[in-house]
Amino acid sequence: MIRVGVNGYGTIGKRVADAVEAQPDMEIIGVAKTQPNFEAHTAVKRGYPMYAAIPERAPLFAEAGIELAGEVDELVAEADVIVDCTPSGIGAKNRELYETHHTPAIFQGGEDADVADVSFNARSNYAAARDADYVRVVSCNTTGLSRIIAPLEEEYGVEKVRATLVRRGGDPGQNSRGPINDILPNPIKVPSHHGPDVKTIFPDLEIDTLGLKVPATLMHVHALNVTLEDDVTGAHVRQLLEGEDRIYVVPEGLGIDGAGKLKDLALDAERPRGDLWENCVWGESIGVNGRDLYLFQAIHQESDVIPENVDAIRAMFELEDQKTSMELTDRKLGVGISGDPSGFSEQARAEFADD
Ligand code: NAD
Repeated sequence: MIRVGVNGYGTIGKRVADAVEAQPDMEIIGVAKTQPNFEAHTAVKRGYPMYAAIPERAPLFAEAGIELAGEVDELVAEADVIVDCTPSGIGAKNRELYETHHTPAIFQGGEDADVADVSFNARSNYAAARDADYVRVVSCNTTGLSRIIAPLEEEYGVEKVRATLVRRGGDPGQNSRGPINDILPNPIKVPSHHGPDVKTIFPDLEIDTLGLKVPATLMHVHALNVTLEDDVTGAHVRQLLEGEDRIYVVPEGLGIDGAGKLKDLALDAERPRGDLWENCVWGESIGVNGRDLYLFQAIHQESDVIPENVDAIRAMFELEDQKTSMELTDRKLGVGISGDPSGFSEQARAEFADD
């Protein structure tokens, strides 16, 4: 049983904690928080021992009625691995703490690639994290791009990817973010930094990306053009993508015409926090012109990286091979909508039936 600590219990951290706890071969031994906000109370309710991320703030937890198990360096010393889910840039500062205790760590995509020995996406380079002490799970956008590039590369070969990323301005709770009523080329300089980030997973890939930010919180939407090495048909590509558990090819006829309906589907299917761990590719958008493939996909920024963090732990500790790990993660979380128009995955149904 791998003993996992989560440092930074916000949007990503709280989801990682629940996902780890759902697995049979790893457990949460504690989470570290900077303040006793509502998420701290949720963590306590879920039974996660609470550690103070900033020792001077420990009294605030007592005042809020939260009993601390200790301070963050005790959690780091105790854990087999820390999943660092602190805001961008803090993870890099935390690395010294993890090194001091010889505790391996997983960082998130907001950190620069050089924070870790390897950048990770389970579908694309699982084996690269074997035995690594420091791994970075790439960002939500890079995860979404990697998951779709991997099968295309394997099946047809990829000559060049061009992707326009229409990014949500902030997460639902980030009321300080914007734009409120604007459409921002962001970053304004093209190509954007997202392409080089994808190259941390596929070093030889030709890829150019452009980014925008819009007043939305639900999901990102990617407009993709991939020039393949072979002529293909749309039907063949669709079949290929339908075979991927972490890709949901949105069928025609369900009335899912945007990110809002996708989120409704997830909530109706009683997914935790309305999460959509899968890339959501609109089946109707898959279009082919010779070797050029076009499609739209939506990426739920808050949750697509969650299964990847679980797999990163298994890869680092060489617990399972890629296929076994991804299948186990998906089964325990309920990832994989394909084949069920109501949004309940077959695996999730099986899990519910077992309970
Ligand atoms: P968040 O702000 O929702 O959560 C971060 C948490 O860390 C907060 O609870 C904050 O109080 C806490 N924190 C701040 N300083 C800390 C410290 N020194 N020690 C411990 N905890 C501290 O941020 P998030 O969205 O969960 O992002 C975390 C990481 O995941 C970032 O690298 C981000 O780029 C990446 N990421 C975010 C998303 C997303 O859409 N939210 C998607 C993929 C990757």
